[in-house]
Amino acid sequence: MFRRSVRQFVEKEFVPQQARWRENLAPDAGAWGAAGRAGLLLADIPEEYGGGGGSFAHEAVVLEELARAGVHFGSAIQSTVAHYLLAYGTEEQKRRWLPRMARGERVAAIAMTEPGAGSDLQAIGTRALREGEHYVVNGAKTFITNAARANLVCLAVKTDPKLAGMRAISLLMVETEGLAGYRVGRSLEKIGMHGQDTCELAFDGARVPASNLLGGAEGRGFAQMMEQLPYERLQIALGAVVSAEQAVALTTRYTRERKAFGKPLFDLQNTRFKLAECRARAQIGRVFVDNCIARHVAGTLDEPSTAMAKYWLTEMQCQVIDECLQLHGGYGYMTEYPIARMWADSRVQRIYAGSNEIMKELIAWSL
Ligand SMILES: Cc1cc2nc3c(=O)[nH]c(=O)nc-3n(C[C@H](O)[C@H](O)[C@H](O)COP(=O)(O)OP(=O)(O)OC[C@H]3O[C@@H](n4cnc5c(N)ncnc54)[C@H](O)[C@@H]3O)c2cc1C
Repeated sequence: MFRRSVRQFVEKEFVPQQARWRENLAPDAGAWGAAGRAGLLLADIPEEYGGGGGSFAHEAVVLEELARAGVHFGSAIQSTVAHYLLAYGTEEQKRRWLPRMARGERVAAIAMTEPGAGSDLQAIGTRALREGEHYVVNGAKTFITNAARANLVCLAVKTDPKLAGMRAISLLMVETEGLAGYRVGRSLEKIGMHGQDTCELAFDGARVPASNLLGGAEGRGFAQMMEQLPYERLQIALGAVVSAEQAVALTTRYTRERKAFGKPLFDLQNTRFKLAECRARAQIGRVFVDNCIARHVAGTLDEPSTAMAKYWLTEMQCQVIDECLQLHGGYGYMTEYPIARMWADSRVQRIYAGSNEIMKELIAWSL
């Protein structure tokens, strides 16, 4: 029932707006409230905090239906930030922000990456120094999803520059509306995912209440990120499988219709073999991701498995979509064809939320 209502909502409210979202390099402002009213936001957060009261299985339904429709909407980031709050927030912080996030009144972003620090998070330079009841924040972030509309930013900062590496890092919840010294850059022009905003953020002496620190004490941010990143990686792995499945389905349809040498492309053995290979990869990926989801819901999913899912499934997604694009011939290179957009959209999956090289490090550490 939940899947049916999410699918109806996405098809009616989001799919028809995609050309405009892509043109504006961001979803419509009203999309967040609409998603909140339809129950798409925070599906796996307890009802007492305004969430859907479901498990990750419900969150998976939302992710699957968005990916199936080819819609890039940052509800996954919204859920990720909600899980930071659920895990480390005070009761007051949870009650202040989670219900508003579930209604789409608060749009969340998570800001770790900086121009000088991506994979190497310990090298971040953004500072938040305590002055009385506030932190004074200075620094810059880049590639931040949802940033154009975000009014609640989970910000990775260094709270004690005297400490080395990870012990200096904390997470600060920043309410950005009317915040002096806070600036959002324009939506960055990406090769894909045009309907989703990705921006730079600048902090120039922005004053954030000290009570917005996450986790009660300074220096816990790095450990918090390491604990929560697997959630984000599982979301990405699931999106990868859905998009591979979609690519096979739409390419099967296309090659049955398109004719060459007097018969459908599908009748050529190469087409059938390529599609068979892609279908097999997507199905093997589906079995693995479903296994990961079941283990995550049961609370037994280990970090190396999540890293394997993120790495292997996003590589699989890119291979499958590339083969499917090839089977479209020149039409596959035209952005009006979904396969062309999927090809460009999928490329970043191997890069963000910890690049696939970093995923291999995580797997290797477990050997
Ligand atoms: C569309 C998009 C959305 C994003 N959204 C967000 C967001 O919402 N919030 C956020 O904080 N960030 C976000 N990011 C940033 C993303 O997480 C980083 O780009 C990513 O972590 C890589 O960091 P980097 O770009 O600095 O690359 P670098 O760290 O400079 O890496 C460059 C290359 O070197 C490789 N490399 C680096 N270290 C190692 C190593 N130890 N071993 C082997 N290879 C290595 C990398 O794998 C990569 O191939 C987003 C990025 C994009 C493109």
